[in-house]
Amino acid sequence: MSSEKQRNWKPQTTLVHGGSLRSGFGETSESIFLTQGYVYESAESAEARFKGETPGFIYSRYANPTVDMFEKRMCALEGAEDARATASGMAAVTAAILCGLKAGDHIVAARALFGSCRWVVETLAPKYGIEATLVDGTLIENWEKAVQPNTKLFFLESPTNPTLEVVDIAAVATLANSIGARLVVDNVFATPMQQKPLELGAHVVVYSATKHIDGQGRCLGGVILSDKKWIDENLHDYFRHTGPSLSPFNAWTLLKGLETLPLRVRQQTETAGKIADFLAEQPEVSRLIYPGRADHPQADIVKRQMSGGSTLICFDVKGGKKAAFAFENALRIVLISNNLGDAKSLITHPATTTHKNLTDEARAELGIDDGTLRLSVGLEDADDLLNDIGDALKAAR
Ligand SMILES: *Cc1c(COP(=O)(O)O)cnc(C)c1O
Repeated sequence: MSSEKQRNWKPQTTLVHGGSLRSGFGETSESIFLTQGYVYESAESAEARFKGETPGFIYSRYANPTVDMFEKRMCALEGAEDARATASGMAAVTAAILCGLKAGDHIVAARALFGSCRWVVETLAPKYGIEATLVDGTLIENWEKAVQPNTKLFFLESPTNPTLEVVDIAAVATLANSIGARLVVDNVFATPMQQKPLELGAHVVVYSATKHIDGQGRCLGGVILSDKKWIDENLHDYFRHTGPSLSPFNAWTLLKGLETLPLRVRQQTETAGKIADFLAEQPEVSRLIYPGRADHPQADIVKRQMSGGSTLICFDVKGGKKAAFAFENALRIVLISNNLGDAKSLITHPATTTHKNLTDEARAELGIDDGTLRLSVGLEDADDLLNDIGDALKAAR
């Protein structure tokens, strides 16, 4: 299939067929090439492969056919020139942030970050002489004010974890371009179906494929997507020599996940919209944040850059930690877990789990209260979920 033809496919087609690489057996489903190495017909062909004169695989730390299919399918979906798959989302974030920087460079990042992402910019990067400034990312003025002569990278998530704040990606990209810096966007919460950071001007997009891309809670994985030149210059050697490579088995799991990604995200978003509207009306709920509602604090930006309302909901129950715990413990279908993007609906109390390492002050800045809960909506029947949540709210009174 010519790649020219593939480029015109709609996402649903791309996610079923994009990047497929059939072996001589003509298998329908993608093969798992669970191999470390590759053999050569002759000493001469090994030499030619190593010189780069003939195409082919050398070692699975460098590249592997199943991993290659996952990377190509993600490129086709995202509209990126190139990609590198990683063993986890954090391996992707760490490489995307650090590989293009050196000692003396400066990062500006939104302060509302996934906990480990915040550790990378706030704690790891400074050890190597890369300083970071964290800002309230919802106002573009804050990004502008934080810029220094040595600012080389901007980093953000949108919507953010757990309070689903939305950052204006196009505005930050314009600022990055004006000073010759690069913008890296962690697009996990929006999913590739509802937001296209590269089209909005971002230079690099990263995913924890662990979340919606697998979508069924099975394996870890990640991916970095960007232009070929940046990946060649910044990631190619790092991947070969430090080994954050994705397992072929996990790549296969993620490939199969991509086939159903549009269906799952559409269904989960539809159910999330119903649950958000229900929660907004409940007397036990003091705050509700959902990007798909007109009362979202950045509803105008949502309209510009997202094509769906998110599969996640953030809300506060009245009565603080005691009420939040009583609510969680009363749920019968929704499971208590710190994960998200699963077929199973999952509830998280950020203050005591995912965000427990932050100071009280930092939590307050992010709008995380003792009664704040994050709900990741799964694929269960919407009415069953509404009943479960309604019953649990009564129990939490
Ligand atoms: C989960 C997550 C990560 C980390 O991904 P892992 O696959 O768990 O390493 C990074 N960013 C965001 C926004 C996430 O939700």
